[in-house]
Amino acid sequence: MKFIDEYREADAVARLCDAIAAAATHPWVVMEVCGGQTHSIVRYGVDRLLPPGVELVHGPGCPVCVTPLQTIDRAHAIAARPGVIFCSFGDMLRVPGSHGDLLSLRARGADVRVVYSPLDALALAAARPDREVVFFAIGFETTAPANAMAIALAHKRRLSNFSALVSHVLVPPAIASILQSPGNRVQGFLGPGHVCTIMGTAEYAPIARRYRVPIVITGFEPVDLLDGMLRCVRQLEAGRAEVEIQYSRVVRDEGNAHARALLDEVFEPCDRAWRGLGTIPKSGFKLRAELRDHDAERRFEVDTLVTRESPLCISGRILKGLAKPCDCSAFGTRCTPESPLGATMVSSEGACAAYYLYRKAAS
Ligand code: SF4
Repeated sequence: MKFIDEYREADAVARLCDAIAAAATHPWVVMEVCGGQTHSIVRYGVDRLLPPGVELVHGPGCPVCVTPLQTIDRAHAIAARPGVIFCSFGDMLRVPGSHGDLLSLRARGADVRVVYSPLDALALAAARPDREVVFFAIGFETTAPANAMAIALAHKRRLSNFSALVSHVLVPPAIASILQSPGNRVQGFLGPGHVCTIMGTAEYAPIARRYRVPIVITGFEPVDLLDGMLRCVRQLEAGRAEVEIQYSRVVRDEGNAHARALLDEVFEPCDRAWRGLGTIPKSGFKLRAELRDHDAERRFEVDTLVTRESPLCISGRILKGLAKPCDCSAFGTRCTPESPLGATMVSSEGACAAYYLYRKAAS
């Protein structure tokens, strides 16, 4: 299949591995930012193909994993209200909150529905004016434009029964936060290919300059990932710290102007709490004031929530590249995809779930 087979080709993989081994004269630690990259790396064993001393660590790029427990508890509180139809992508339904997940809430009678697009939730709001339809708008810059479009359309069509619980997060402030965190080990990044397809690369150049880290915007197939690693290692060896596009079949420096304009129309930056990383300044999107009628947080005031994380879970250290899933004492025993203790075990893009799926048998 075009654009797939040639990026999984064994000879190309072998050539890239040889080139990385020849280029690396020092140990280097590189973080892949995107959860899709993490899944692919673990699925194909890309990290195990690297020469000794060149290490890949997994970043905070799974949107389900970084959504704070308090937001999940807030979603539950809203979904439990009479008259509410709560709409979410399927992967959020099994994320454990302090008092269970959305699936168990549905089993207890709440009207929780899986949608495949925010426009499905919008159509539901138009069809059911007697009900409050709330869409759970989470994710990175990649999913934000579609959610922005649904909110903008709801406003234009005066669908006053449509609102969104917004918990969008942005990649560049998270990268800066990781580089500032005590004990940081990360020296270079495989940047997020899909996020940069929307946003372009301009926000990454100041980070590369300030922290002296190469950032290679990389794709998702084994050849992409190894090519990204080779470019990153060559920059590190040469003392360069530049933004480079490996995923050039999709990413342009300027990103997608239409999508960015839509984001500007609907959202503005805000401080945002990240599960495992804490609150990062200007690392999220919130609705602009003129769209506040569609803000579910404002519409459904929720009492102060007391959240309870599992004391066993070390996903915060995993998301900063300071630990791997197999370092967790609960991995594969008390914490499994069927019974997750933390969010990184729930989503297929979470590092713990990927390790469980592809490496549990070997651990
Ligand atoms: S294995 Fe489970 S408990 Fe351990 S870090 Fe991952 S999600 Fe948390």
